[in-house]
Amino acid sequence: MEKIAVLDGYTLNPGDIDWLEFEGLGHLALYDRTSLEELVSRSRDCSCILVNKVPISEDILSQLPNLTYIGVLATGYDVVDVKAACDRGIVVTNIPEYGTNSVAQHTIALMLEFARGVGMHHQKVKSGLWSQSQDWCFSSKPMFELSGKTLGIIGLGRIGRQVAKICASMGMKIIAYSPNWPNHEVLHGLQVKRASVEEIYTRSDVISLHCPLQTSTYHMIDAEAIGLMKSNALIINTSRGELINNKALARALHRDFIGGAALDVLDSEPPLEGHPLLSAPNCLLTPHIGWNAIEARQKLMTMAADNLRAFLAGSPINVIYESDWRGSSNT
Ligand code: NAD
Repeated sequence: MEKIAVLDGYTLNPGDIDWLEFEGLGHLALYDRTSLEELVSRSRDCSCILVNKVPISEDILSQLPNLTYIGVLATGYDVVDVKAACDRGIVVTNIPEYGTNSVAQHTIALMLEFARGVGMHHQKVKSGLWSQSQDWCFSSKPMFELSGKTLGIIGLGRIGRQVAKICASMGMKIIAYSPNWPNHEVLHGLQVKRASVEEIYTRSDVISLHCPLQTSTYHMIDAEAIGLMKSNALIINTSRGELINNKALARALHRDFIGGAALDVLDSEPPLEGHPLLSAPNCLLTPHIGWNAIEARQKLMTMAADNLRAFLAGSPINVIYESDWRGSSNT
């Protein structure tokens, strides 16, 4: 019987869905979290491991001779050294599509919070500021309309396209950069103009990141990129924290070089006390919850079991190859 370990299953399933989909696939050991110190001892006897954010490096792989399969419980697979895994004949899979609606919805929620401040105004009303106001209406931040503004999307994949679709329906003009430009059928009438990365930086009022973390995208938003942006531009990142040089962004926010940032992901998660973006002005932060809708988690669970079942049957699906990985240069 296959020995399977889920090394950090808590965020996927804190208890409101179940692991029954894995029944019959092998002996399943479930761990809510696994520290680096526990990683090898928990995985040593396993042929299959499932991970979300536990980093699987070459060094770890060299200590797991029985391993044949790594199922990443996420779309982004930057936690695994895919090259080292491929070199050892270990199959790596991801979940390519489970949270498109959830992450796109979260991206829009961040954008709308900047434009309208619903959450912020709610807090002020609850704290009594409206009651103390001399006027019938009370606002404490300049608000603006998204209609007519230019949204620049970097990475026009599933989530990027869904964000584009919603924003187009709000009257935004959409420009995008993506190395693999989707064909007409995929775009399905969506009005998106192709642009270079530099054009995205210089022309956008809102920039939203939806590309994977790779060597070529690491710190793509740095001081130089921010220097090209409009001084009132808003940067949204629901993709991966390391796409942005977090220190450079914090400096730019403190100096008013940029209008604001709305981030669901940071370069260290959870952020250490004193992380520069925790105290940066005009910086809206959510704790990597873009994916976290019950519908998305249920779909992820089903697809993770499907991936493992297909692998065990000898016809793996959703396989990540070395050329897909962060070492690739598909810019
Ligand atoms: P996808 O594979 O459908 O789309 C990614 C797009 O990025 C593709 O169109 C690809 O061509 C493009 N791309 C590749 N290299 C690029 C580069 N160098 N510059 C610009 N674009 C590039 O993936 P998706 O489902 O849309 O997910 C996008 C990202 O969202 C994932 O990589 C993941 O990191 C992140 N994500 C975050 C959450 C969350 O909870 N916040 C949840 C799921 C996914």
